[in-house]
Amino acid sequence: MKRIYLDNNATTPIHSEVLDAMLPYLKDEFGNPSSIHWAGRKPRKAIDDAREQVAKLLHGDASEIIFTSCGSEGNNLAIKGVAESKRDKGNHIITTKVEHPAVLGTCKYLAKTGFDVTFLDVDNQGMLDLDQLKKAITPKTILITIMFANNETGVMFPIEEIGKIVKEHNITFHTDAVQGVGKVPIDVKKMNIDLLTLSGHKLYAPKGICALYVKRGIRVVPLIHGGHQERNRRGGTENTAGIVALGKACEIAGRDMAEEVKHITALRDRLEKGLMEKITHVRRNGHPTKRIPNTANLSFEFAEGESLLLNLDMKGIAASSGSACTSGTLEPSHVLVAMGIPLEASHSSVRFSLGRGNTVEDIDYVIEVLPTMVERMRSMSPLYSTITGQATDISFSESNCSH
Ligand code: PLP
Repeated sequence: MKRIYLDNNATTPIHSEVLDAMLPYLKDEFGNPSSIHWAGRKPRKAIDDAREQVAKLLHGDASEIIFTSCGSEGNNLAIKGVAESKRDKGNHIITTKVEHPAVLGTCKYLAKTGFDVTFLDVDNQGMLDLDQLKKAITPKTILITIMFANNETGVMFPIEEIGKIVKEHNITFHTDAVQGVGKVPIDVKKMNIDLLTLSGHKLYAPKGICALYVKRGIRVVPLIHGGHQERNRRGGTENTAGIVALGKACEIAGRDMAEEVKHITALRDRLEKGLMEKITHVRRNGHPTKRIPNTANLSFEFAEGESLLLNLDMKGIAASSGSACTSGTLEPSHVLVAMGIPLEASHSSVRFSLGRGNTVEDIDYVIEVLPTMVERMRSMSPLYSTITGQATDISFSESNCSH
């Protein structure tokens, strides 16, 4: 069976160059980077080099990078760390309703411990109203945390403009850029970003290694107290192999980004165009242009998203509905709900997130097989038959139930 992977926003495969770079640190170069003897020297140097590589991709400085275990940890460290360090200056935090659960959950936790959190709305294209952001700022606002790109729709917020507003008010600005890093150029200085989260397993490094950029001068109270590692900001023996992998992945992202953006955008556009030409009642969720190049979130109205995913899986196609963390539940996506997408359309949404390994053949295969699946499902929908005047195909529905 074919295996076509269109779920790169959930996780990416490991790049072969990344694997080659990390393997020595799982074998001969096993030393503890804090050791002063021979075994620790090469791992220490490798970590220093990786820190430079990560910083370079973001236009930051190596001393501003803290390695973490996952993007969720990075977001927790940024938000809780800043909130706690600025507790005496105010208790107001601003975020949006469409953040990843790692940000939403952290903000909701802080709201239970005495912080006041504003969750900004988005419009039906998933965009923010910057006047609403300006109006939400109060003298007590200490932190604004707004994502770089949405994991479900790919919509990119105007981070540079937000950075300007935040700077004018002298507030700390964090962005969850887990879905942005490696896909679009990011310059933390130009964008006035104080803290930025990135995740290795979304950019062709393995799971278990991520980073938080913290601008020099910004104080974060650590989540993990203990060792002196990461300049006392995150205790624990470093994951040398993972860190080396993340450094290499960032170097490759910087090197190949322009080419990959061209390749992936062309494939994404081909997918959307092909499906929209062959299937009626398809809705694109999210802004048509202000989005990362690899993500297409489409609702195939009158067909059930989860069932489509199962059918796609049977044909070897891996896609997703909502974020990986929430799929498996039948709750509609909080992102699509915040965008005011009707419940019916939310339940029929599928997220295709492309990656560097995808080909024109992959995309054409999806365009070939998906219309029949949608048509079959719609033939069982009484609502669809009311609209089209076609009879509901009960016989299929019965045979389908027996499998
Ligand atoms: N933020 C966004 C936007 C994400 O898409 C994800 C993962 O899907 C995370 C944070 C969490 O990252 P991790 O899985 O590395 O904890």
